[in-house]
Amino acid sequence: MSTPVTLIPGDGIGPSIAEATVRILAAAGADIEWDRQVAGMAGVARWNDPIPEATLDSIKRTRLALKGPLETPVGEGFRSINVALRKTFDLYANVRPAYTIVPGRFDDIDIVLVRENTEGLYIGIEHYVRIGDDPKAAAESVAIITREGSDRIVRYAFEYALAHGRKKVTLVHKANILKFSQGLFLDVGRMVAAEYAGRVEFEERIIDAMAMHLVMRPEQFDVIVTTNLFGDILSDEISGLVGGLGLAPGANIGKTAAIFEAVHGTAPDIAGKNIANPGALLLAACMMLEHIGDNARAQRIRTAFERTIREKIALTRDLGGTATTDEFTDAVVAQL
Ligand code: NAD
Repeated sequence: MSTPVTLIPGDGIGPSIAEATVRILAAAGADIEWDRQVAGMAGVARWNDPIPEATLDSIKRTRLALKGPLETPVGEGFRSINVALRKTFDLYANVRPAYTIVPGRFDDIDIVLVRENTEGLYIGIEHYVRIGDDPKAAAESVAIITREGSDRIVRYAFEYALAHGRKKVTLVHKANILKFSQGLFLDVGRMVAAEYAGRVEFEERIIDAMAMHLVMRPEQFDVIVTTNLFGDILSDEISGLVGGLGLAPGANIGKTAAIFEAVHGTAPDIAGKNIANPGALLLAACMMLEHIGDNARAQRIRTAFERTIREKIALTRDLGGTATTDEFTDAVVAQL
């Protein structure tokens, strides 16, 4: 029976990389029934809403979405798309894998970063503080860390490690300075880690040292779990270690739904030119196939994709080649 999946092609390069991804999945025989929906500027054009109810209803029904990059319209009255999706579906785990496809400065990186997606400094509690006659004399942003939120994200990282045959979880924090919020995250993390002792190795790193270790010897890391802001920053650092945004997929996972996407944006500078690299969205689609248990097909697509790049059968411009999106897609299909 085919699996229904909401497809949001997105804005800018979104529709072209989404079509490339759909074509490769179809060629690999993936049995998916795509429910095409709009969001971002395409949502504004059609429903005057960047995150239309019809799109949310579709995801409520399918519980799975593949999403191209979206442009959040600037201006009053528009909801932030990512925040709306995270809140509606409580997508608490942001999973961002990065591994070496083309050996470069590092030959052997294989890291999965698990970022807490709903708490920390991103909850949106911010205000200015008036002092005397200056209404913006200071500003305050509140970071919320909860025991429950910390428990479920660290547990997710350990369960992910077990399910994917990974050896180690590194918890990244700043509990030496932020003794309460980061301290709670670390305390809860240690308790969860104790439950997995003997099955998955556990280590702790302070965020600043971690940023350095990642550029000096990234091969030593396996699964990393951290709070929202640190995860946001480290995941971009890690994607830079393995060839940039064109190869960086991400998954937003909740208990009732999961949304898979490319980490990059709409790339307005190259939109409409048929030169975007569909790799990040394709790898996100592979994560989705794994999520629904179709590991063999995901692996087959990855192998074809990696061979296309490693053997330089076709390379898009961001990877140093001249292939168009269509030529690259044809090449991957030919390797399946
Ligand atoms: P971007 O990721 O769109 O582009 C950064 C650079 O990377 C550009 O030079 C672009 O050409 C290149 N690039 C990105 N993806 C590529 C690909 N697949 N193939 C080849 N080159 C690629 O970042 P930006 O310019 O800061 O943002 C543009 C828009 O995207 C903004 O409106 C932003 O809000 C939105 N955005 C959306 C998401 C999302 O929906 N998940 C994420 C980030 C940015």
